[in-house]
Amino acid sequence: MPVNTPITVAYGDGIGPEIMEAALFVLDKACAKLDIDVIEIGEKVYLRGVTSGMEPSAFDSLRRTRVFLKAPVTTPQGSGYTSLNVTTRKTFGLYANVRPCMSYHPFIATKHPRMDVVIIRENEEDLYAGIEHRQTAQVCQCLKLISRPGCEKIARYAFEYAAANNRRKVSCFTKDNIMKMTDGLFHKVFDEIAAEYPSIASEHWIVDIGAAMLADTPENFDVIVMPNLYGDILSDVAAQITGSVGLGGSANIGDSCAMFEAIHGSAPRIAGRNEANPSGLILASVLMLNHIGQSGTATRIHNAWLRAIEDGIHTADMYKQGTSREKAGTREFAQAVVERLGENPRALKAADYAAEQPRQVKPPPTAQQPEVSKELTGVDVFLCWDKGSAAQLGGALTSAGTPALRLRTISNRGQNVWPHTSPDTFCTDHWRARFTRETGTGKLEYADIIALLDNVTRAGYEIIKTENLYDFDGIPGFTG
Ligand code: NAD
Repeated sequence: MPVNTPITVAYGDGIGPEIMEAALFVLDKACAKLDIDVIEIGEKVYLRGVTSGMEPSAFDSLRRTRVFLKAPVTTPQGSGYTSLNVTTRKTFGLYANVRPCMSYHPFIATKHPRMDVVIIRENEEDLYAGIEHRQTAQVCQCLKLISRPGCEKIARYAFEYAAANNRRKVSCFTKDNIMKMTDGLFHKVFDEIAAEYPSIASEHWIVDIGAAMLADTPENFDVIVMPNLYGDILSDVAAQITGSVGLGGSANIGDSCAMFEAIHGSAPRIAGRNEANPSGLILASVLMLNHIGQSGTATRIHNAWLRAIEDGIHTADMYKQGTSREKAGTREFAQAVVERLGENPRALKAADYAAEQPRQVKPPPTAQQPEVSKELTGVDVFLCWDKGSAAQLGGALTSAGTPALRLRTISNRGQNVWPHTSPDTFCTDHWRARFTRETGTGKLEYADIIALLDNVTRAGYEIIKTENLYDFDGIPGFTG
């Protein structure tokens, strides 16, 4: 007799409870072997004053079960609340977000009948560090953090996923023509890892044209790996163009924990009406069953779901007169899936997750990072100032320079405005003054920077932050 697998379940907010009831009903009737621990997460927890939306006891449950089936939550407005999804992904190291998006033509209306794309989104880094500051009256900043180990892990995961699932190509989307250091690193590491998998084709697209191509001819893509923000946006686009965002299930995978959820949100406008499509969470449950080694049950549920789709039983979001047969509510759709357990689709390709063993992609550990030499070469000093022109600022900051550090350029929102300026450039109250080492003054020390900052402050300027400039192995680690 197979033993039950402990899992943690959260009903979430909005349509969450309805679609979770539907998914658990299907899991129960399919005889999934689960020991379910229910935790409370989301809006009510936030409003009790728990800023993460999750009590410590909920984290304890996840640490014990290491498998989380989660319904969507509503994050209350306001800067005091942190995203529960982001916190969970980071706390448990869920670095890979896997989102299969396929069309079910001719049963669900779509402009893309041959679409079968898996989006693999980096889940822990990028702008989702959530480090934001208002620095001046006019300007706010959000830090985009990309690490080499983070890129290596996600790129390797994408190729291992492709190899394990008979996929022929991995595409990478970045904006490295603009963000040369951060997205540039993602692209560079992707190319390095791609070389380790010569039997799988690889390509890179700038994200804007890549996104346009994905929306136009998704059949040309197979597996796509992206930094966090692009993956977040484009996986919703990809799911929607298969027919409905309500169709998408996803897995958040870490080395020792995993979370499974629908890709959509809590859809508060249709909550409580028995209207929501539970397919995303049902398909997430299929991914979960495969992850924990209950592939037979995964196969049965997936095929019953495909058969219900083929039989034209559709929730409102996928219903189309002429194609659909019956507009089903959330509960009725789940019932239709249950009634088809044991049946296979007739026209759509049947699922067959044969072996009863965990279907998990386990990339090899990230390589030891090579030593790099690092040399301080200057400093960017960011100032809040609204008292005059770039030329005036340039004059004053030139005088504030020290024997070791000399002013080279001033920029405003990334546009150089000193020593050369265009009269048409609009300047805010947020300035960056770049000081670099004076030739022939020897090794630059942090004390030299402190002396410069002291001069700048004494000259009456407000420093809002500094950024050290380093060369790594002789190559500048900063953009112009
Ligand atoms: P949403 O995905 O909830 O809704 C977008 C649109 O899709 C709406 O028209 C909605 O009615 C429809 N829709 C979504 N899921 C559906 C389903 N299963 N069946 C039928 N129609 C469906 O996105 P939103 O409106 O931007 O966000 C609502 C809330 O959800 C916000 O508080 C947001 O923070 C939260 N959210 C949570 C998660 C998560 O918990 N994983 C993800 C995204 C958004």
